Amino acid sequence: MDLALLERTLNELREPSYRARQVLGWTLRGAPSFAEMTNLPSRLRAELTARVPFSTLAVQRCSQARDGTIKVLFCTRDGRPVEAVLMRFGDGRQSVCISSQSGCPLTCTFCATGQMRFGRNLTASEIIDQVLHFKRLAGGPDHAVFMGMGEPLLNLDAVLEASQHLPELGIAHRRVAISTVGWVPGIKRLAAEPMPLRLALSLHAAEDPLRSELMPVNERYPVAEVLAACRDYWSRKRRRVFVEYVMLADVNDSYPQAVALASVLDPRIFKVNLIPYNPTASPYRGSSRKAIDAFRGELQRRGLMVTVRVERGREIDAACGQLAAAAPQKTYGAVSGLARSASHSGSSSG
Ligand code: SAH
Repeated sequence: MDLALLERTLNELREPSYRARQVLGWTLRGAPSFAEMTNLPSRLRAELTARVPFSTLAVQRCSQARDGTIKVLFCTRDGRPVEAVLMRFGDGRQSVCISSQSGCPLTCTFCATGQMRFGRNLTASEIIDQVLHFKRLAGGPDHAVFMGMGEPLLNLDAVLEASQHLPELGIAHRRVAISTVGWVPGIKRLAAEPMPLRLALSLHAAEDPLRSELMPVNERYPVAEVLAACRDYWSRKRRRVFVEYVMLADVNDSYPQAVALASVLDPRIFKVNLIPYNPTASPYRGSSRKAIDAFRGELQRRGLMVTVRVERGREIDAACGQLAAAAPQKTYGAVSGLARSASHSGSSSG
C-alpha cells in the first residue's frame, strides 16, 4: 500500500492521526482489503477502497514449481516489472526473495537481471507489498532475502524503511539478509545501522581481473576494499558475512581459485555459499557437481564453513539470477484488483 497516499487521503478526510496506524496494522497482519478493517467506520472503509489501491503492485503472472517455489511477476503503477519468489522448505520455513529495483543498473555478465534494462528504484511500499502478497497467499514467510532484482545497497533508504516493518509481518531482522555486489558505501551504512540485518556479499572471484570481467562494478570497488568493508561490518555487528560464489565451469571453479578464495577469507568472519549456476541466455555453463564438491572440499580443508545452495524453482526461471521479466503488456489500471485475487491468477503447478 502506498503509505504516503494513505496518509494524504486520511488527512483530506480529516481523520485522526491514529487511523494510519490502524490501517497499517491490519495490512501488515495480512488483511485482504479495507473492508476487513472492522475498527474503522464503514464510511471510511468505503472511501479508502475507492481512493487508495490496496497494493502498489498488481499481479501479472504467478507460477509454481514442483518444489513448491512460487514466482510472481508484479507490475508497478507506472508499468515497471518486479519479480519476487517464495521458497518453501520441508521444515516449514518460508523464505521470500525480494526485489529492491525494477531491473538492475549493474551489468554482471552472468546474471539475467543485469542484462535487462534498468527501470528505477522501488519504494518502501513496493518492497513491503511483495512480502504482503505472499503473506496473504501462503500464510507468511519467516525469512527474507534481498536477492531478487536489483542492488539493494543502491536503494538503501527504501530497503531500510521496508525492513523496519518486517518484524510486524513476522520476519525478525535477524532473518533478513541483504545481498550486495560489494557497494562499499552501502556496506558502511549497513554496518552503522542498528537493525541486526545480515550481510551477504556476491563475490564470485577472489582475484580482481576475473572479478572485473564478471562484475564490472569491481573496477570501482575492488576485492580488497570490499572485503575490508565486510570485515569492518563484522567487527561492529559480530555477525558472519555470507559470501556468495556462483560456480561457473572453467571460469572460477579451479583448484588454484579455491586456494585463492580461501586465502582472502577469514573463517571467523566469512561463510561461503557456493551457488550452482542457473542457466540464462549468457554463454556461461554451470560447474559440474564434481567440480563443486572438489571446490567445497578445498575451502573446508582450509577451515571455512561452506554450504552449497539448494537449487529452487529453476523450471519456472525463479532461481537466482534468472529474474528478468519481460516488460509487462498490461497496465496497472487494466489489472487492478488482481492483487487481491492473486491466489487465482493463473498459477500453474508444473
Ligand atoms: N545485486 C545483489 C542482489 C541480487 S542477489 C547481488 O548481486 O548480490 C542475486 C544472487 O544471485 C547474487 O549472488 C548473484 O550473483 C546470483 N546470481 C546471478 N545470476 C545467477 C545465475 N544465473 N545463477 C545463480 N546465481 C546467480
